[in-house]
Amino acid sequence: MEKEILIFGHQNPDTDTICSAIVAERLNAKKGVNAKARRLGGVNKETKYVLNYLGIEKPELLESVEEGQEVILVDHNEFSQSVKGIEKAKILEVFDHHRICNFETAEPLYYTAKPYGCTSTILYGEYKANKFEIDTEEATLMASAIISDTLLLKSPTTTKYDKIALKELGEIAGIDVEEYGLEMLKAGTDLDDFSEEELINLDAKVFEKSGVKCMISQVNTVNIPDVLEREEKLKEAMSEEVEKNNLDLIILAITDILNSNSELIVLGNRTDIVEKSHKLENDRVFLEGVVSRKKQLLPMVEKNI
Ligand code: MN
Ligand code: MN
Repeated sequence: MEKEILIFGHQNPDTDTICSAIVAERLNAKKGVNAKARRLGGVNKETKYVLNYLGIEKPELLESVEEGQEVILVDHNEFSQSVKGIEKAKILEVFDHHRICNFETAEPLYYTAKPYGCTSTILYGEYKANKFEIDTEEATLMASAIISDTLLLKSPTTTKYDKIALKELGEIAGIDVEEYGLEMLKAGTDLDDFSEEELINLDAKVFEKSGVKCMISQVNTVNIPDVLEREEKLKEAMSEEVEKNNLDLIILAITDILNSNSELIVLGNRTDIVEKSHKLENDRVFLEGVVSRKKQLLPMVEKNI
């Protein structure tokens, strides 16, 4: 029997990764392609809010893929952020809004890359291009992903395409985008039952440039001082992460989703990279207007390297 095609986003899944995988499964079904959504890790509280709201199950967990497994990637392309075994998998298709990095395939593939604020905005375009109808569940999933990735259209990653998509998706979903969006984002800021180690791995990405290995983690909050009450323990967990993963630099961005600012905690033996442009005080710096890892934090680090 032919094995089914698997669709998944990146490790440490966020709302875009989960929602886009589910939507891509449905989009493929409409095209007559049997592909199943999977996830590469635990579902965060923000995403749980969305799935509970809709009463739908989270995708099954996928630990690794075997050689030749047919896959569709959403919301990522870098193998370091993907499933174990991805090098030997057969990548049929990619929908992504990130830079293309260390990505190579043996065979031709469909690859849709757009510099939008969210993968779901690309999928929304697919529905349009194929003249497929969007039902309320699909609309809610895509709207939630856009709200999450663009922080309610306030992140500098937001494009006009995200705005157009969210407006229509909100109408189809029958939600007040502002009200629903804020509730959803707030659900993701309840950090109480996470250990410090879990907190720094909730939304973490590892990058390497010129031999410098750097991890940038991000947690959303509605009150930065609340999170900073755990500063010492967070630093301990960050130092352990540095040891465990041979990191040169680790940055935790505590992002205030209401006021669009971030406080950074910066550790490792290459904190000089950040200090090239930002003076650290007690390993910390407050960055006005900074909310995006992709558009603001990562470019800053890479430029300074
Ligand atoms: Mn993502
Ligand atoms: Mn995304």
